[in-house]
Amino acid sequence: MAKDQFVSQIADIDADFPQWYTDVVIKTKLVDYGPVKGIMVIRPYGYAIWENIQRELDTRFKAAGVENAYFPLLIPMSFMTKEAEHVEGFAPEVAVVTHAGGAKLEEPLVVRPTSETIIGHMMGKWVESWRDLPLRQNQWCNVMRWEKTTRPFLRTSEFLWQEGHSVYATGEEAETETLNMLHLYEEFAKNVLCMPVLTGRKTEKEKFAGAVATYGMEAMMHDGKSLQSGTTHYMGQNFAKAFGVQFTGKDGVLQYGYTMSYGVSTRLIGALIMTHGDARGLILPPPVAPVQVVIVPIAAKKEGVLEACNALKEELKKAGLRVKVDDSENSPGWKFNEWEMKGVPVRVELGPRDIENGKMTVFRRDICEKSELGLADAGKELCALLGEISENLYHKAEKRMKERIVDAETLEELLKGVDGGNFVRAGWCGCRACEDKVKEFAQATARVMDKENTAEKCVVCGKPSVHTVFFARAY
Ligand code: ZN
Repeated sequence: MAKDQFVSQIADIDADFPQWYTDVVIKTKLVDYGPVKGIMVIRPYGYAIWENIQRELDTRFKAAGVENAYFPLLIPMSFMTKEAEHVEGFAPEVAVVTHAGGAKLEEPLVVRPTSETIIGHMMGKWVESWRDLPLRQNQWCNVMRWEKTTRPFLRTSEFLWQEGHSVYATGEEAETETLNMLHLYEEFAKNVLCMPVLTGRKTEKEKFAGAVATYGMEAMMHDGKSLQSGTTHYMGQNFAKAFGVQFTGKDGVLQYGYTMSYGVSTRLIGALIMTHGDARGLILPPPVAPVQVVIVPIAAKKEGVLEACNALKEELKKAGLRVKVDDSENSPGWKFNEWEMKGVPVRVELGPRDIENGKMTVFRRDICEKSELGLADAGKELCALLGEISENLYHKAEKRMKERIVDAETLEELLKGVDGGNFVRAGWCGCRACEDKVKEFAQATARVMDKENTAEKCVVCGKPSVHTVFFARAY
């Protein structure tokens, strides 16, 4: 098959980015559509990326002192109504079990959309004294939020995530942890997903239902739209009061704890696809790529070629790399296209002449260029190359994001900015009506507030700016 024929199976990334995304996730076998509308099946190639994300994050959580636990899928309906804002926020998306065991249930059960309520309930049982604090737990699980319009990884009715929940004796400690986890996510996004993010506090309108403050990290996708890629929430005493999370302090007085939570989901897979992908398909960051190096034998039937490929594979595995030899019957050209589309960071081509010369031909997926490396010390050479690829991916994405942050002083400028695929930085007076006006006029939302207020005037009403906000169209 000719190369351009193969590429033409994927929609043009610049002409039709949504179709490009759909083509890529389906054709590279990351996901498929399940029998229930809006519910995806994660296939092995996609799940392997998730396992790598999990491992990297889990290591970080444990190093920070967080323990894993598992809480139930089903939550009594009455729990959901205990925190007023929480129930209001989640009611439209909740799936409810009314029958089980052939009979109608006395109390309907909610399929968890998130677990603040049930974890609050359990922590209320476990926390008695200041000695029990802080209590910091995390669970890896699925959640369900019934969605009207869905897209694989980005918005599906069932998805996988981690949710961390902690109780502290003081609000100050819980707030500090909320920011610490945001920084942990930011570091993870940079070093593992090679993805630059903007972090900051969310506006009241955009915060989590029931939180005092929500912080988010936003990443810029290929089309200039924003993808919320992780959030952390400071709850104050809202959930502690609703669920009786009380402890006896050092002073002997019974008091409510302060809680916080944080989560990232399989959405991150969508984020890295739309951050790094190009016309040929996926470009996977080396730290999460299921296959980091694919070895394609050239003239595989010639004596010694397959043996040399397998020997190289063993050597690279010893160096800690995830390696595959593609010894299928397809032609080398077909294999090149296939693995390029699947985003494998490095391809090694090994034929009789290479073996004779002690060399290998190496193709870098991030820049689509070939070079030659010596076969001696291949493990060390390729580890270094993968590190270089990670850095290049990050810097390329960071450059794009920096170039595409523009300032606006009027609504017209803001509209022009988001129309051009930019994040727009603008002043805001803090009032909800002005935030709503931006949405109505430019179909853009406040993604996060900047750390400092550097703008003079509200982009809508012209009153003094209270927060400088990054506005963008978002997934
Ligand atoms: Zn205003």
